[in-house]
Amino acid sequence: MSPSLINFVYIVASILFVLGIKMLGSAKTARKGNLISSVGMLMAVVVTLLYKGLDFKYIVVGLIIGGAIGLVAAKRVKMTAMPEMVALFNGFGGLASLLVGWAEYEKIRGQGFLEYFTRQDAPVIFTSTVIVLAVLIGGITFTGSIQAWGKLSGKLGSRAVIIPAQRLINGAIVGGIVLLSLLFIFSGNLELSSGTQLAIFLGVVLLSLALGVLGVLPIGGGDMPVVIALLNSFSGLAAAAAGFVILNNVLIVAGCLVGCSGLILTIIMCKAMNRSLTNVLFSGFGSSTQKTGAEVKGEMKAASVEDAYYVLEAASSVVIIPGYGMAVAQAQHVVKELGELLEANGCEVKYAIHPVAGRMPGHMNVLLAEADVPYEQLVEMDDINPTMPSVDVAIVIGANDVVNPAAADDEASPIYGMPIINAHLAKTVYALKRGQGAGFSGLINQLYFLEKTRMLYGDAKATVSALVGQLKED
Ligand code: NDP
Repeated sequence: MSPSLINFVYIVASILFVLGIKMLGSAKTARKGNLISSVGMLMAVVVTLLYKGLDFKYIVVGLIIGGAIGLVAAKRVKMTAMPEMVALFNGFGGLASLLVGWAEYEKIRGQGFLEYFTRQDAPVIFTSTVIVLAVLIGGITFTGSIQAWGKLSGKLGSRAVIIPAQRLINGAIVGGIVLLSLLFIFSGNLELSSGTQLAIFLGVVLLSLALGVLGVLPIGGGDMPVVIALLNSFSGLAAAAAGFVILNNVLIVAGCLVGCSGLILTIIMCKAMNRSLTNVLFSGFGSSTQKTGAEVKGEMKAASVEDAYYVLEAASSVVIIPGYGMAVAQAQHVVKELGELLEANGCEVKYAIHPVAGRMPGHMNVLLAEADVPYEQLVEMDDINPTMPSVDVAIVIGANDVVNPAAADDEASPIYGMPIINAHLAKTVYALKRGQGAGFSGLINQLYFLEKTRMLYGDAKATVSALVGQLKED
């Protein structure tokens, strides 16, 4: 296949990527968008394989091993474990870019560094820069993502870990990386020996891997989804750099798309938590030294499913506020049934969606869509909040931080300023959770101690099923 034809297919593939991403913006078109982007990727892969001189032996082995692992992992992964899966994907994307950069360097070194550039008439500084960028960003993404995966899956402690002189150490590593990268890029001009150049290159690799670990260490599990979005962006940039290394246009385009969309997502999530990216990355939110906010007074009052049933039966408006606990309990299907029964009883039912409820962006939308809750019933935080004072009952299902009034009125609270769904303004609140466990931020929630709040203890799915049972008997 001629290079111009290959590039033409790359352009078509790039257009399909952009169209697909656009369609992911709405639940109605998202599946189609995913399919369109996948077709674009398939086209890009197929024409790339038509390049002359490829060794199919390794490609086929890689395809079989990688494809099998991917297939099993995608089938097995639970909805709640999706962010961890994304972290692993990012990490391996970063590792792939690192290896592409390294392989290219080895190829050039094997042919004599400067001789290679004279023979190929390639720009030495440009090539060295993109190699170092692919290795550097890829390395940070790899170890950072593995650490993020460990924290989210609970395999490594999820707390933010602050070690003495952390910023100083990280600063020194960044300084070291900048210095070694410059030495590598200008190694030709400096006439460094091949051995010295290799040592410098390996230094960049090691320091990048170390920075990934140390950079994510002081970030708590609650902020991990933001970190994952950022690392996702890094994995895209690393891929784009790798695209420049091997001069593959579609890799550059795809890498830039991932880089930009990851960054936009990071910014959206930070805004939804009313925190800056610097605060997420460097404040140590969730560490044992974190402030805990004002003391909570009063007691949590338990109610029975039967009590709740009588109140719900008489309610004319109910807002269901789902959170991470609904995902853990996989209660979305029974929650939908509860909503339908209440509606059949003449009650207006809405679902209030907080942008960071759960553990990944759009987590609640995905779960409720899976249960076929009509999309029109899902109301965003800014739209539901003004209506909350007139709502008869707010049912909080496994949500905690996103309904903690301390975020609105306790300046000493670490989550002060984070926008919340104003469940505390509804006339009555039922909170469904298993026990007295805190939310992801580790804070006690004042909402549960209010006079108007009743606790329905137990697994959310069991409690909602019991409520459904009562309403069905009606
Ligand atoms: P939280 O993690 O604050 O609270 C979840 C609650 O669910 C817990 O209090 C827990 O209490 C309860 N729970 C757990 N399992 C069950 C179960 N089986 N049945 C009933 N209840 C259960 O969740 P939110 O959704 O309110 O808040 C999300 C948090 O994650 C926020 O702090 C947010 O900032 C953070 N975050 C989210 C991001 C995202 O992309 N969505 C990104 C970054 C951060 P108990 O143990 O007593 O049952």
